[in-house]
Amino acid sequence: MRQRKITLTEREIPEHWYNIVADMPNKPLPPLHPGTKEPIGPDALAPLFPMALIMQEVSAEKYIAIPDEVRDIYTQWRPTPLYRAYNLEKVLDTPAKIFYKYEGVSPSGSHKPNTAVPQAYYNKQEGVKKITTETGAGQWGSALAYACNLFDIDCDVYMVKISYHQKPYRKLLMQTWGANVYASPTPRTEAGKKILGEDPQSPGSLGIAISEAVEAAAADPDIKYSLGSVLNHVLMHQTIVGQEAVVQMEKAGELPDIVVAPFGGGSNFAGLSFPFLRLNLEEGQNIRCISSEPSSCPKLTRGVFRYDFGDTVGMTPLLPMYTLGHNFVPAPIHAGGLRYHGAGVVVSQLLRDKLIEARAHDQLECFEAGVQFAKAEGILPAPEATHAVATVVQEAERCKKEGKSETILFNLCGHGYFDMKAYEDYFSNKLERHEVTTEQIEASLAQLDTPVPA
Ligand SMILES: *Cc1c(COP(=O)(O)O)cnc(C)c1O
Repeated sequence: MRQRKITLTEREIPEHWYNIVADMPNKPLPPLHPGTKEPIGPDALAPLFPMALIMQEVSAEKYIAIPDEVRDIYTQWRPTPLYRAYNLEKVLDTPAKIFYKYEGVSPSGSHKPNTAVPQAYYNKQEGVKKITTETGAGQWGSALAYACNLFDIDCDVYMVKISYHQKPYRKLLMQTWGANVYASPTPRTEAGKKILGEDPQSPGSLGIAISEAVEAAAADPDIKYSLGSVLNHVLMHQTIVGQEAVVQMEKAGELPDIVVAPFGGGSNFAGLSFPFLRLNLEEGQNIRCISSEPSSCPKLTRGVFRYDFGDTVGMTPLLPMYTLGHNFVPAPIHAGGLRYHGAGVVVSQLLRDKLIEARAHDQLECFEAGVQFAKAEGILPAPEATHAVATVVQEAERCKKEGKSETILFNLCGHGYFDMKAYEDYFSNKLERHEVTTEQIEASLAQLDTPVPA
């Protein structure tokens, strides 16, 4: 029988997270204070995060041990399966071998609990009573609600208003796990009041919701803030995905030529690709790592590398990253998790050093690829994940044209069963091709008065 599914035992769950900073030829530039624009140290982050996570954020240690309690919780859904997509290969009529790692088997249906659980764990260790966060489509909010419930921590989620009304099921899932969910902008914070004062009908954005959640946490020592992507420690937690995949690909007798993952802030891309990039950096392998982003929010392919705020109001430290500008408001495409203006510092530096690649796709192309995948392999991809499928389809077609049997691995980072509205809109031809114009990008970047990295 052909081996379709490559599994691991619980004992094969990685014991460490991998910190790629240790292996990077050019280390990430330091974050800057939003006011003074001088480099900040770990202490500046203390009002927002527990010390254990801050130490991980600034760490250059190559491996960081995963606490036993966290590994024990991981066993509920990890190790996740890795599949060979025989049916998709056949439909695409390609000589390429296609594999995917499936993170949709977690309780909230994506890779996000991989970091939500350790984040809640370290907060609990340091006596934190409540965690605030933001969420767009609701993937991150539901992962954190799940994790906070496990550790008996209160959870306040600022959910982008337009999603709050369009995606009631994610909101209900968060409420089921005990979280308080607020439609952002809210009148609960100064940041929210400011935005509502300017535009009472504001549909909200991820940047605004971050401003609100950060403000609420900074105001009270018992409350901390948590981010589901972008930051170094978040990317590092996700490397359990790629470490498992390295072993599973070995078991399949293959080393990928190409690793692909969708890109919002960079966490699932980092999670799958960094352990393979380690093979490039350490062992001289030549694995191409491609991130897939929407053409409506193309920070990696059309943004600039410079210091920018993580939020809209300008409260967070300035991070050196690829960005479209913190005032950039992306079109309301359905891949909510990919509508962020910036990118993680580590992934940004790797792209700047040409150690990874980036590619943008239009949303129609993505849904077409997603439906093709669902028909072939059965699993309905999250709208975010369809971006990776679109890249895979392109690469499989190139392999066909060139007569090459390359091995492609991608991250099916979540299922789309809470996103049926997106598929409904696609099936009823309500989705339009969308690419942001150069004028829009230039207008947003022109508003930046933040430092340009050397
Ligand atoms: C949040 C999310 C993303 C985007 O975030 P990254 O940090 O870039 O991974 C992509 N896919 C899914 C399913 C998500 O939930």
